Amino acid sequence: MTPIAKAGSISAAEKSPLALFGGSKAIATDEGDTFTWPIVTKEDEAAVLDVLRRGAMSGSDVTRQFEKEFAAWQGAAFALAHSTGTAAIEAAMFGCKVGMGDEIICPSVTYWAACLQVYSLRGTVVFADVDPDTLCIDPKDIEHRITPRTKAIMVVHYLGHPADMDAIMAIARRRGVKVIEDVSHAQGGLYKGRKVGSIGDVSGISLMSAKSLVAGEAGMLTTNDREIYERACGWGHYERFLMPQDLETPYLKEKTGLPLGGHKYRMHQMSAAVGRVQLKHYDARCEEIRKAMNYFWDLLEGVPGLRAHRPPADSNSNMGGWYAAHGHYRPEELGGLSVTRFTQAVTAEGFRSRPGVNMPLHLHPLFNSIDVYEEGKPTRIAHSDRDLRQPRGSLPVTEGIAARTLSVPWFKQYRPEIIEEYALAFRKAAASYRELLKEDPGNPETLGGWHFFAHR
Ligand SMILES: *Cc1c(COP(=O)(O)O)cnc(C)c1O
Repeated sequence: MTPIAKAGSISAAEKSPLALFGGSKAIATDEGDTFTWPIVTKEDEAAVLDVLRRGAMSGSDVTRQFEKEFAAWQGAAFALAHSTGTAAIEAAMFGCKVGMGDEIICPSVTYWAACLQVYSLRGTVVFADVDPDTLCIDPKDIEHRITPRTKAIMVVHYLGHPADMDAIMAIARRRGVKVIEDVSHAQGGLYKGRKVGSIGDVSGISLMSAKSLVAGEAGMLTTNDREIYERACGWGHYERFLMPQDLETPYLKEKTGLPLGGHKYRMHQMSAAVGRVQLKHYDARCEEIRKAMNYFWDLLEGVPGLRAHRPPADSNSNMGGWYAAHGHYRPEELGGLSVTRFTQAVTAEGFRSRPGVNMPLHLHPLFNSIDVYEEGKPTRIAHSDRDLRQPRGSLPVTEGIAARTLSVPWFKQYRPEIIEEYALAFRKAAASYRELLKEDPGNPETLGGWHFFAHR
């Protein structure tokens, strides 16, 4: 292994010819299980087989146990298991009384399931810009978007980075709106020492198998608010909603027996069984991920053009499981080299780095022109008191973020020699930026995608 230079200096290895131009690849060692996720052992297998053999797939004993353990781990009074994260987030919206013509405020660079369910509640979404460093909703761009119809702020701890919850909660409390945390990217992460997902009024959490905490196809809702919990039970869990004496929320008492949303959102017990085992080992496995990812970024400290996407080391905040790890790209430090060209060079070194993040939702036809329910109006504004659509140019940070971000390896194991090779791939590309500039095609009109599904 070629030794990596200390931050700021450029080693011989970094100056060696790029693989793109016929040099040898920075990444040569077999990755083995460095990126394997989820980690599945005999324990997961036994848990699944138990459900299967007992004929308990549609039962709820394992699921209720999972909820109990999840609530304790999350630090929440209630956890309600769902079939998907999408369902849990929809139930969280209903829990916060989002209904006809109501608005939620959500970032636009995120996976669609942070907001799109609002259409089926007959509400709509107003997008706020993101903070260029955290890539999460920018608290400075929220308050002026609040109207009498705003019911909730949807916070996504994007790509594992905790959002600025103190600032967001202050606005929400002052203006009387709820905060929903979408923790699908940041399970177990910390914001100033507090678990993300335990700070807002309610959280919705995906546990599908691309995420850092995995139960299969599954989701979890957590809250300390009994009314939100009971509304969520009513929405998609008729079997929790049978006994009026179990409910404290007065207006729900007369409605028991059938699901209010017409949904059945129960978690599959084979998922709950996997989730229980995964949760048990999750904190230790995240510790290993954080050690590996922080080592990778420490090796890139001071490299022009690159910045870690992580909170400051002394903030008592962290990146949870570093879901779908990305980094900041600063073309202005590399003579304007496009992220497209930069990632071509890294890819040739042996890691397929992709430019960009999730494409901005506000530019998709579904948030502009599509009339989903054939009501004669685009669904985004079908029940609104004004045209709240947001054309290109309205969210400048969001719209420019793809040219300033790139994917980096998402290590699951701390293997210093392997991590050093991946860091070298990025350092080589940065060191040779002048040669790369000669054949820079620039960025195409669109970068990034509508979803991510990469474990490395
Ligand atoms: C994955 C994801 C969801 C939806 O979760 P599913 O379990 O796939 O339904 C919601 N929000 C974000 C930000 C996600 O990444």
